[in-house]
Parts: sequence; structure tokens; C-alpha cells
Amino acid sequence: MNVQETAFRVADDRNPGPLLERGPSFQDRTAVVAAAAAAEADEVDLNARFPKAAIEAARERKLLGAQIPVAFGGFGASIHDVTEMCYALGRACASTAMIFAMHQTKVACLVRHGTGSRYHEALMRRVAAEQMLLASSTTEGQNGGNIRSSAAAVERSDAEISLVRSATVISYGAEADGIITIARRAGDAASSDQVLLAVTKDNYTLERIQGWETLGMRGTCSAGFELKIDGPAEMIFPEAYERIHTQTMMPVAHLCWSSAWAGIAAAAVERAQRFIRKAARGAGGQMPPGAAHFTAAKMSLARLRAMIGANLDSYAAREYDDRALSALDFQSSINLLKVEASELAVETAMSAMRACGLSGYRNDGEFSVSRHLRDALSAPLMINNERILANIATATLMSGVPNSLRD
Ligand SMILES: Cc1cc2nc3c(=O)[nH]c(=O)nc-3n(C[C@H](O)[C@H](O)[C@H](O)COP(=O)(O)OP(=O)(O)OC[C@H]3O[C@@H](n4cnc5c(N)ncnc54)[C@H](O)[C@@H]3O)c2cc1C
Repeated sequence: MNVQETAFRVADDRNPGPLLERGPSFQDRTAVVAAAAAAEADEVDLNARFPKAAIEAARERKLLGAQIPVAFGGFGASIHDVTEMCYALGRACASTAMIFAMHQTKVACLVRHGTGSRYHEALMRRVAAEQMLLASSTTEGQNGGNIRSSAAAVERSDAEISLVRSATVISYGAEADGIITIARRAGDAASSDQVLLAVTKDNYTLERIQGWETLGMRGTCSAGFELKIDGPAEMIFPEAYERIHTQTMMPVAHLCWSSAWAGIAAAAVERAQRFIRKAARGAGGQMPPGAAHFTAAKMSLARLRAMIGANLDSYAAREYDDRALSALDFQSSINLLKVEASELAVETAMSAMRACGLSGYRNDGEFSVSRHLRDALSAPLMINNERILANIATATLMSGVPNSLRD
């Protein structure tokens, strides 16, 4: 039985238990989505269009609700499962991988901080049943990546709330079925006193204020909108955003984004490897001059994977331990993961391009690394590395120097 045929096998009464046990593995499901993503990657990039076929394939393979607990209709996928998916998709199409990574980060917040809230539990069931795609709105006005500060405030009237925010960047905003956004708790609250809201399409409108004509990540369609929300107050998560940010939003975003970027880097390395092999074969086994750049690309990819792996294990080990998640060392490490992974992804793609020379620099041909490099270049500025480094400078100073190599 092939992957397509088995993709929709569902649980039945005779064979109870987690749905996944009777369906294809995450790996098989992701392979189908990655194939769809790869098939449209060039066109998605060229026309800066949403990767419709890939996201539809993810929907059909029920991967958009993969993290939702089995009790709410999902597969209960772990952070390891989800980051593997991001990596596999990154190898096929960076925009698809980034859309998937952002969606999964929002779902992680819903799962981790929505359990126990009637509204959020109902939304979890809908994400699993309808395979809803959730977008993210944190960037506001000219505030850049200063995510821990909001301008727009929630206005309350009895059990109803409203919010109007200048959402300068919302990836796939026009295609999403729901948006997870931050806001000031109330008109008289400080800019850092934020709440998180999960809003479905029937409770918001988007008016386009800016397009998305960019160097890379073109298929994320990250246009700007005026976001207007009206609906029940229970759309607000019960916990303060500060806690959700530290425990889930930031760690999961950094792990998923880094995995997507590692996928882009791996795809670039793969092209460079094919180029060097072909060149060596053509020269009677003699290595071309660009071979050293290929070795450098492989080395930086290995560093990137090792760093993600270590942080993944570290996060998984403390995922349900509030104190351990808030610890200075962990917070510094998971923040630095984003900084280092984004730089390494660019470094790897650049080395791969130099290994291929003009064949890599070209926009066409089987060895082009142009798309990979352009996509990877978004990584250091997606929440700017300088901003992150400035923000964690004090915390880094306070945490001690390790006493051993492994602790
Ligand atoms: C592909 C992609 C998809 C995105 N999708 C979304 C989305 O779905 N939703 C969303 O809300 N946002 C999204 N964003 C926006 C992103 O989250 C950041 O808000 C945005 O990239 C930061 O924009 P900026 O560089 O203009 O602003 P800033 O962060 O203000 O940076 C501007 C400049 O100032 C520098 N700088 C900033 N702070 C410091 C500091 N403390 N010290 C020294 N230098 C500093 C930076 O390095 C940079 O050079 C996306 C961005 C990208 C690239």
C-alpha cells in the first residue's frame, strides 16, 4: 500500500487507540507534503504566491493538527516530530516550511496554554477536525521585532472585546483561518502588560496596508494589514503573554524556525554535492577548486544540526517544568539558538553557492542555489539578531560559565 492510499486510514471501533497507529507515519505524511512543496517551489518563489498545493497536502495528511492532543482529535505530535517536519519541508520549499513552522508555533501555544479553557479547547478540536491554518501577528506599526511591547490595547464591553492593530507583517494572513495575536491588556496597561488572543476568521477583518515584494521567503506572502477584531472576551488566553512567550512561543518558534532554516541549508548542500560530484567525474576524479567550499558547507550544516538537536533535547526535557523553562541558562540558550542557527544557515547556503560557482549563482539550472540563499537571508532579521543579542546581554552576564563539558 503506498503513502497516498494509506494517508486517510482512520481509527475504527474494532481497533481503538491513537489514530497514527493505524495510519502512515509522520515521515510518510511529510514526504507527500514535501513532494508537493518541491513541485511548486520555483513557481511559488517566482510569483511570490502562497504554496497552495503544499499546504493543501498538509491539510489532507492531517499535519496541520498534528500537535493537537489525541483527546481533542489530533495526533499529539511532539516537538521532535514537528521540527523534523519543518526540516523536511525546508529542504523542499522554504516558504512552505516557514508557514508550517509559524503555524505549529501557534498551535503549540494553543495546546500548552489553552487546555482547561472552554473556548481554546473548542478551537483545538476545530484545528484537528478542520485542519485550520493559524497565522501570527506580533509585529506592529514601526515597532519591528519588539515583540514584548504592544501599542494597541484590548477594549472591553461586558463579555465582548475589540482590538484594532496595525499588523505590519502577517505571513499568509490572507489565507489563514485564524490569527494568534498579542495586545496590551487594557487601555491603561503598560506596553509590556500583554495578552495573547486566538481569533478565528468570523471574528476579524483584514484590510491590506502593505504588499510583500521581497528578496526571499516570497511564498510566505507576509503582507501588512489593519487587523480589526470583535468577539467574545474568552478569545484571550487565561495566562499572561509574558509567561506564554517565555515557556512556549519563543522556544517553539526558535526550534521550528531553526529546523526550517536547517532544511534550506541542507538543500543547498545537496545541490553543491551533486555539482562537485559531477565536476569531479568530468575531470577524471580530480576535485574541482570549489571543493573546499563544499566541505565548509557540510561542516556548518553539521554544526547547525548539532545545535538544534541539543536545544531540542533540552526543551523536551523541561517542556512541562515551568521553573526549568524560565531558568536563565535555558532562556539564553534557546534565544541564542535563533541567532546562531540563522547565521549558520546563511553561511551554509553561501558556502554551497561558492562551491557551485556560477552554476550556483544562476537563477536557473539544476545547481542554482540562488533561491536557497535568498530565503536563508531572511533568517537573521526575522526578529533581528542584534535585537535578541541586546535583549539577552544582561541575562547572559548573570549566568555562570559551565564547570564541565556536559551538564
Ligand atoms: C519571512 C518573514 C516572515 C515574517 N512573518 C511575520 C508574521 O507572520 N507575523 C509577524 O508579526 N511578523 C512577521 N515577520 C516580522 C518579524 O517578526 C520582525 O518583526 C521583523 O523581521 C523585524 O523587522 P525590522 O527589521 O524592520 O525591525 P527591527 O527589529 O526594528 O530592526 C530594524 C533594524 O534595527 C536593528 N536593531 C533592532 N534592535 C536593535 C538593538 N537592540 N540593537 C542593535 N540593533 C537593533 C536591527 O538589527 C535592524 O537592523 C516576518 C519577517 C520575515 C522576514
